[in-house]
Amino acid sequence: MKECNFNFQNTYSTLGQEFYTHLQPATVPMPEMVILNEDLAEILELDFSGITSQQKAALFSGNSLPEGAEPLSQAYAGHQFGHLAMLGDGRAHLLGEHVTKEAQKYDIQLKGSGRTPYSRSGDGKAALGPMLREYIISEAMHSLGIPTTRSLAVVSSGEQVFRESPLAGAILTRVAASHIRVGTFQYAAIQKDINLLQRLLDFTIKRHEPRLNNAENKALALLETVSERQADLIVHWMRVGFIHGVMNTDNMTLSGETIDYGPCAFMDAYDPDTVFSSIDQMGRYAYGNQPKIAQWNIARLAEALLPLIDPDPDKSVKLAENIVLNFMNIYEIKWLNMMRSKLGLSVPHEDDEKLISDLLDWMNKSQADYTNTFRDLSMGVYSKQNYYKNKEFKSWKARWIARQQKNKTSNDVVLRLMKNTNPAVIPRNHNVEKALKFSEKGNFKYIFKLLEILKNPYKETLHLSEYQELPEPSERVYQTFCGT
Ligand code: AMP
Ligand code: MG
Repeated sequence: MKECNFNFQNTYSTLGQEFYTHLQPATVPMPEMVILNEDLAEILELDFSGITSQQKAALFSGNSLPEGAEPLSQAYAGHQFGHLAMLGDGRAHLLGEHVTKEAQKYDIQLKGSGRTPYSRSGDGKAALGPMLREYIISEAMHSLGIPTTRSLAVVSSGEQVFRESPLAGAILTRVAASHIRVGTFQYAAIQKDINLLQRLLDFTIKRHEPRLNNAENKALALLETVSERQADLIVHWMRVGFIHGVMNTDNMTLSGETIDYGPCAFMDAYDPDTVFSSIDQMGRYAYGNQPKIAQWNIARLAEALLPLIDPDPDKSVKLAENIVLNFMNIYEIKWLNMMRSKLGLSVPHEDDEKLISDLLDWMNKSQADYTNTFRDLSMGVYSKQNYYKNKEFKSWKARWIARQQKNKTSNDVVLRLMKNTNPAVIPRNHNVEKALKFSEKGNFKYIFKLLEILKNPYKETLHLSEYQELPEPSERVYQTFCGT
């Protein structure tokens, strides 16, 4: 379909056939458009106005391919809950790399598009609920200013997929800076062919960090850059109370984008031990563990890169270790700065850490809502919750106000900083679940409204309260599922 302006390159296949399998997406019986992301289409310079809804559905289901697409599924490995496995796109097809006029490159991938050589026992399919969930949360993350893959479209396939019960099938079109994962490097390292690893390194640098071509030690420089990007990403997650839920190494990108929205969820009441995912029984990927796990994943990337860092194993281990160990230092500095912004502390002070940790301790004890508490502090509104009457909070607040007097910036600047750091609205689990329930019954009104609200998460607008309120006990979501 030429008229949509797709402009594909297919450079991934230059990596060599070890890295992928060329194959067509499965054909589905009756694709129907559910959502098209017009804003994203515009950024991608794609234009679907000249084709019918049926043609769009054919396009986004994989029934008819855009001109220039050369679909492939990628091979990769990954540590899943600490155990290494050979994986790969078990239900995804990369159509190609779409290039805009400004030479921005985007992977366009169908997810839920049929079996591949990497499917293992899976059916290669996806259900409508989880694909809409990925759409809502990835788009919300984008609007919150957090690096993420995005969602261009969801179509229902007209066939049933069988999980615990039969469900409506669907296909999501995912857009990513690239789909290169820590697991892709692990996959290359397992092959014990240094040429493969070198090729992947060169490809990744060319795609994401061409300036590193001049680095003295490219592998080390990439490790350092990825480590820093991941520190930034996790700080963003911590800022908004996001819990990824499955931080396996195959779900960590080299680009620094959040990827693979499975059982992820946002925390309501502040508690670092919060876990939603039904498959995370040990709490490995709990909210408060995310920085440590990111470091663990970076260590796995470092291991994979060792042969390229230095031919002398002792030397390469030493060099890589320095970067892995430094992850936590970098993270902690970034985290502290982020928390300072949340509290409007524009000039650092040595007591800040204590001030922040005392607030978090109080929030944990009082089960204060993470998002609303910081937003209330930004707005100066303390009427909504009884726990603000608590003595401990009042004395903390007095300390905080006294501390703010030390700021050298004007009140306006401080308030703006806080309002732009502390969202007024996040995709709360119970609202997301409600939107998905309606959608499954063919009623898409609620999901469209939710998506609209989530586009401006830092803006105080009327009619927000429904999305700011905490769930009623009957609406509380305790567990989320992968839905794979
Ligand atoms: P995830 O936990 O979503 O990151 O997926 C882990 C691995 O399982 C990846 O290799 C996926 O491609 C694969 N996978 C997940 N769901 C399915 C499915 N329904 N059919 C085939 N493979 C799947
Ligand atoms: Mg994955």
